[in-house]
Amino acid sequence: MKRQIDILYKIQKIDTVIKSSEELKKRSAEEMQTAEASYRKAEAQHQAVQDHVASFEKQRRDRERDLAEAQSQKKKVEERLMLIKTNKEYQAALHEIETIKALIKDKEDLILESMDAMEGAKAEQKKSEAELSRARGVFEEKKRQIEVELKAYLDDVDRQRQERDGLTGQMQQLAPDIYAEYQRQMKAKNGRAVAVVSYEQCMGCSMKIPAQIYNEVMLGEKIVFCPNCNRILLVNIEEVDTGQ
Ligand SMILES: [Zn+2]
Repeated sequence: MKRQIDILYKIQKIDTVIKSSEELKKRSAEEMQTAEASYRKAEAQHQAVQDHVASFEKQRRDRERDLAEAQSQKKKVEERLMLIKTNKEYQAALHEIETIKALIKDKEDLILESMDAMEGAKAEQKKSEAELSRARGVFEEKKRQIEVELKAYLDDVDRQRQERDGLTGQMQQLAPDIYAEYQRQMKAKNGRAVAVVSYEQCMGCSMKIPAQIYNEVMLGEKIVFCPNCNRILLVNIEEVDTGQ
């Protein structure tokens, strides 16, 4: 009987690993999703800032072109000034030059405005670049963890799963009823059907085991349940860890 319980204990250890591996897998997938979402968000944010910078750049170029046009217009009027014969025409041309000069001043102010806006946008761009690189780093590290570390761990879990198939095969041959009870307890006890008894104490529920029951566990002739938590009891031998 002791042999069956040892097998059950091994199965339980593997079941514990399988359960936590599934939780880890789920958690990793969620972390990956979060990292990817913030990376995509940083990417979009950075793109928006870059578009902003580009639009200010275009605005400045447009305003510089307007300025150049106004300057050449002023030059033309000034050249015409030399050829003017009447005072009336002369006054009109001077007035036109004054109007263009005011226009030039406006254009120059607008260009300065564009340059200020551009400077602000460039500072923002630096920040969004840093955030993008940070988010990309987190995402890539998470991806690496999942593709390398988690995969290695899950491959090992798969090997244990195969080992478990062998063990359950043995159990089904040796004591199908005990294995059925184990499965029932696994569900009821949230993955802990077998408990080690250490110094007359059930390590599953921490209750002290009556001496007679403890002796039965030590004899290992039949399957013994903890009177408190109903777990299958296993004797504590040095090489078997407590599974805690
Ligand atoms: Zn117990």
